[in-house]
Amino acid sequence: MSDTNEYSDYDRYDLHKERRANRASNDIDNNSEGEMRRRGGLKKSKRYFLRNKTFLIAVTVAIYATAIAMLFLFSRDLGTNIKAANEATVAQNVLGIPVYPKDYENVVKTKSEVNDGFLTLINNSYACEHDGVDLVNISENYNGKYQITDYVMQANKTTLEQMDKMFADFSAAVGDNDLMISCVYRSMSLQNELYNAEIEEKGETEGSKWVARAGYSEHQSGFSFDLTLRDSEGTITEFDGKGKYAWIKDNCEKYGFIIRYPEEKTDITGIYHEPWHIRYVGVVHAEYIKANGLCFEEYIEEIKKHSVKDPLMYQDNDMNDWRIYFVPAEDGETKVPVPKDRDYEISGNNVDGFIVTVKMN
Ligand SMILES: [Zn+2]
Repeated sequence: MSDTNEYSDYDRYDLHKERRANRASNDIDNNSEGEMRRRGGLKKSKRYFLRNKTFLIAVTVAIYATAIAMLFLFSRDLGTNIKAANEATVAQNVLGIPVYPKDYENVVKTKSEVNDGFLTLINNSYACEHDGVDLVNISENYNGKYQITDYVMQANKTTLEQMDKMFADFSAAVGDNDLMISCVYRSMSLQNELYNAEIEEKGETEGSKWVARAGYSEHQSGFSFDLTLRDSEGTITEFDGKGKYAWIKDNCEKYGFIIRYPEEKTDITGIYHEPWHIRYVGVVHAEYIKANGLCFEEYIEEIKKHSVKDPLMYQDNDMNDWRIYFVPAEDGETKVPVPKDRDYEISGNNVDGFIVTVKMN
């Protein structure tokens, strides 16, 4: 006999017992009407209660199910955001990348320091507030790979070091030493003489597009220089940056230089194209400016869009990672956030704030 039949026998036995019990119950019911009504009433309210109980359970289950589903969806959505933020922080921590503000400290700058640094914008609107910055004599450590018009010329120290490197490489690549520096630092008084002479010759509107007003020339900082050509016979010609001299335009960013007044940006710079006028801004900035086809005015505007929380990320040609961001100058002192354990430079933009350049690796 199978187990199923055994259970069937048991069920039959149970069913029989139940019928007997029901009969007994009916006998009691027949004996008392009141009892019957009471029992009937009980049965009715019990059914009602049971139906209600089922309904309540169903509703409770539905509410719980909805709540759980909503909680799941909500937490998943919220979780994604928190997870993404946490993952970014964790990834930065793992990579050792400074996290703002945890890994930053403040450097205090005064309002006048907006006028200091290699990223100071100097043009017809923003004057050079210095008469020479960290000047050295151009004949110091002179490498003989280019020519100079006289030995008392002065230039900014860093600018001159980078010029020496660039001209040595130019000489090696192109094979001549015809490049001549006709001007580097120019004092305010000399600029004034040049400007007045130009205005006298061309009138104020036209003259001012060729020579900057005294106080508004980059030459006054010592960060800029002008190139001329002088061949082996001593003939001096204008530097047009063409032919083999296009090397300067093609390579100057590697040394931190930009062609300050590009042909297609005259309406922004306010100065006619001068292929010979070259300005030092620093390698990473010069590279970015060139790669993005900007002039210096446009670059200064671009950086203003980036705060310490949303820095301009840039990987240079040597695969170094940089973060560049702007901190607006306050009246009085400005707290400039910088990472505690990274090399950085702070330069004023000569307009309204500070530019922080951080080397990340
Ligand atoms: Zn110049």
